[in-house]
Amino acid sequence: MGKATGFLELERIEEGHEAPRSRLKHHKEFVIGLAPEQASAQAARCMDCGIPFCNSGCPVNNVIPDFNDLVYRHQWREALDVLHSTNNFPEFTGRICPAPCEAACTLNYNDDAVGIKSIEHAIIDRGWSEGWVVPKPPDHKTGRRVAVVGSGPSGMAAAQQLARAGHDVTVFEKNDRVGGLLRYGIPDFKMEKHHIDRRVSQMQAEGVVFRTSVLVADLPKNTTVTNWATETVSPKALMQEFDAVVLSGGAEQPRDLPVPGRDLKGVHFAMEFLPLQNKANAGDQPTDQLRADGKHVIVIGGGDTGSDCVGTSNRHGAKSVTQFELMPMPPEQENKSLVWPYWPTKLRTSSSHEEGCDRAFATATKEFIGEAGRLVGLKSCEVQWKDGKMQEVPGTERVMPADLVLLAMGFVSPIGSILEAFGVDQDGRGNAKAATEGEKAYTTSVPKVFAAGDMRRGQSLVVWAIREGRQVARAVDAFLMGQSDLPR
Ligand SMILES: Cc1cc2nc3c(=O)[nH]c(=O)nc-3n(C[C@H](O)[C@H](O)[C@H](O)COP(=O)(O)OP(=O)(O)OC[C@H]3O[C@@H](n4cnc5c(N)ncnc54)[C@H](O)[C@@H]3O)c2cc1C
Ligand code: SF4
Repeated sequence: MGKATGFLELERIEEGHEAPRSRLKHHKEFVIGLAPEQASAQAARCMDCGIPFCNSGCPVNNVIPDFNDLVYRHQWREALDVLHSTNNFPEFTGRICPAPCEAACTLNYNDDAVGIKSIEHAIIDRGWSEGWVVPKPPDHKTGRRVAVVGSGPSGMAAAQQLARAGHDVTVFEKNDRVGGLLRYGIPDFKMEKHHIDRRVSQMQAEGVVFRTSVLVADLPKNTTVTNWATETVSPKALMQEFDAVVLSGGAEQPRDLPVPGRDLKGVHFAMEFLPLQNKANAGDQPTDQLRADGKHVIVIGGGDTGSDCVGTSNRHGAKSVTQFELMPMPPEQENKSLVWPYWPTKLRTSSSHEEGCDRAFATATKEFIGEAGRLVGLKSCEVQWKDGKMQEVPGTERVMPADLVLLAMGFVSPIGSILEAFGVDQDGRGNAKAATEGEKAYTTSVPKVFAAGDMRRGQSLVVWAIREGRQVARAVDAFLMGQSDLPR
């Protein structure tokens, strides 16, 4: 273990950040990671508990006490090896993971958790800057071919693991760049995109082939391909050319709000807004970019996507930004003796909220109000919850000015057509049906077709997508070779 008395002597250190007023002038990352000495002191707080709850709280089961001990002892390169043994892309999670490991940290029971995420961030950034992260091509090839549909974190993790096991992997992506929601969705101020490009280069050197702007779909001849794809490949062609297919296309069907006025100009899904800013940041100059400059913006939905709309709207220079959440405001502090080591429901204030936002809890939208087909206002009311049912609170109706409404109420399912095109059974929520345990883990109802990430589990987190990508790779490898040495 690190320092035996570290947890008694040392405080949690938060990562630094650029002040809101200055960071609102750009779209770049603004978090300042821990310096090596700070990371070492933070790692010294780890108690190396007999049962490291952090390790099971982390979806990729990062071996947290081990890398904490190594960072405490300044053995950074060994710490990087430990980190990479469970997580292909710690630079993604070290930036945007909500860190369920820290909720599960034993020190969190009656003190502040060890800053595990900040230590992970420090290890991987050091690894890249020292040149320790290099391609690891396989020492033998199997001659087996695997197609991965979708290049988000689950598809990337699956592809890297399978290539390292010696298979010939081709990733098909309908967008013009690799990365899924990491690329087009999550704002650059949370994670700059050169982190993805660097991994793509590493994976190409390991043998992975990326085919971008290619939509895998069963479309009638002469159908115009929309949304950045310029080419289609049919599921039938993939089934003929490849020995196994991994479906990791995410869960892109957004939840709608069919109230009066939904069709007014100015009411948009969050994903009509966020990806275009990512594109602009990449230097693409998208035409007709939906922007929030000088507008009264209302974001409907209180999760990550909503928070990202708040931060992006403020960077555009919105006149006002308000965020609605249907549920009542949660407590600021959880009752740890009731919920530890699980992820608690509590008030979460993101960096985007800190930059400026009115948050309205227990608030529902009744109508979008328009003039000449354009949104000018929004009628809302307060709600209360009784026996799991939502009721309007009488006398609370109000109308607010609104020029732009962004719907960020989550995603209901994958786009069904790709699953139908492969003939894959769906679960009750429209996700690809596949278990995660047992001999048939990650196997769909169609032979040699596997599913992972949001496409299998529904919209979730990057760290869960990486976990599923790693696990589906093992399942595919075992299917192709009769057994697998890839880690679970
Ligand atoms: C705005 C936003 C912010 C988020 N913020 C966070 C966060 O801060 N932290 C966090 O942990 N999680 C966050 N998430 C969730 C996280 O991004 C997802 O859970 C994760 O990216 C899922 O990974 P995936 O690989 O399963 O799917 P995705 O990332 O969705 O990738 C799927 C890819 O498949 C491609 N694809 C789909 N169908 C086809 C097809 N037919 N042919 C070819 N390609 C296809 C898509 O274009 C896409 O690139 C956020 C999500 C959103 C929308
Ligand atoms: S991946 Fe997330 S849960 Fe796991 S150690 Fe890193 S921050 Fe914690």
